[in-house]
Amino acid sequence: SPMTVSSSLATSAQDAFSAAEIRAQFPVLQTRAHGYPLAYLDSAASTQQPLTVIQAVSDYHRLHHANIHRGVYQLSQTATRLYEEARASVARLLNAAEPAECIFTRGTTESINLVAASWGRANLKSGDEIILSVLEHHSNIVPWQLAAEATGARIKVVPMNDAGELDLDAYRALLSARTRIVAVNHVSNALGTINPVREMIAAAHDAGALVLIDGAQWVAHGRTDVRELDADFYAFSGHKLYGPTGIGVLYAKRHLLDSMPPYQGGGDMIEQVTFAKTTYAAIPSKFEAGTPNISGAVGLGAAIGWIDGIGFDGVSAHEQALLGYATERLEQIPGLEIKGTAHAKSSVISWVMRDPPVATLDVGTQLDLQGVCIRTGHHCCQPLMDRMGVSSTARASMGIYNGREDVDRLADALLGIVSAVR
Ligand code: PLP
Repeated sequence: SPMTVSSSLATSAQDAFSAAEIRAQFPVLQTRAHGYPLAYLDSAASTQQPLTVIQAVSDYHRLHHANIHRGVYQLSQTATRLYEEARASVARLLNAAEPAECIFTRGTTESINLVAASWGRANLKSGDEIILSVLEHHSNIVPWQLAAEATGARIKVVPMNDAGELDLDAYRALLSARTRIVAVNHVSNALGTINPVREMIAAAHDAGALVLIDGAQWVAHGRTDVRELDADFYAFSGHKLYGPTGIGVLYAKRHLLDSMPPYQGGGDMIEQVTFAKTTYAAIPSKFEAGTPNISGAVGLGAAIGWIDGIGFDGVSAHEQALLGYATERLEQIPGLEIKGTAHAKSSVISWVMRDPPVATLDVGTQLDLQGVCIRTGHHCCQPLMDRMGVSSTARASMGIYNGREDVDRLADALLGIVSAVR
């Protein structure tokens, strides 16, 4: 299965996918850092952008820019068409029932804030419960804390085992008639755990609760089908899907969006404004107040077309093989302890250097001097770090342009660090 870690070091022969060809499409990956070629292993923070995306954004700025949804002239109509075509691409990516269910936002963070503020304040009341998990990113915690403070609702947290897998029995025990919404990530950014979201959604629905899935760490790694999942809300960011920053998506079922109050007020989201009473536009416009990030949407549409051309089966096979290889190499480094050993993982490895102890910040700094880009810190998951009894981890995360040479650079540099301190 593409979700299990490959245990064979000799999988590259079957790996028809050419990371080298793909890598050549990324200008930034041809640059150097501290004199070394880049070994970019921080795609969970932000993926790089292929030329196709850069070109689409550039063409938009050079040839097609105008404000959308307002102009009678051809240029504005072209810009509007490009923006709405991007929305249609998003709907195809997610298998949404219709493009209008896909709202453009600034990213996952804004998508979750939109739901917590709009749906949350309209529907939550004192005594209601919101279920989150210990694996959540701060952006899927704090918006719910704000909604809870405003409404008197309470937050319950699904625990995990030491491998970083959610405890589904504990989850089922938390679900009750008081549960209004469950908000969990599809994939943990800090550990890479792929959560059984389909099962979790079904259980929540049985209890009469809605579910928001934070898909920030999933959409670039496998096929997404919001209807098969039966997700009520699904959020993701363009910059983790080989697209630009400042653009993201909130998917929601039409009946929910139709019944939710606006998140922000302004231009484009109204039907009619008078000082006595304003009526709102239909979705998606109701949730897109003001001039949106048009070029970002165009870039995201291009990114979706690009990754679709590669195909998620190839993406997943390549990344899982690489994860298997990286896991084996890191396991062989003395004193290194991998954090997060879930059975189903995306291409993320977190670790700490225990014996001898090396601070994760020092690890990151030393690796940087050799052109190896990883992330160190709490990964916006402080409750998860507390659960694991650490304040930070070092994290390498792989995208479709990474190859074994990147993993070898990482592992060799780590061996160098270990031998220097031993
Ligand atoms: N959720 C998860 C799981 C993430 O990994 C991230 C980004 O790191 C976010 C939410 C927030 O995404 P953004 O900063 O693009 O809004």
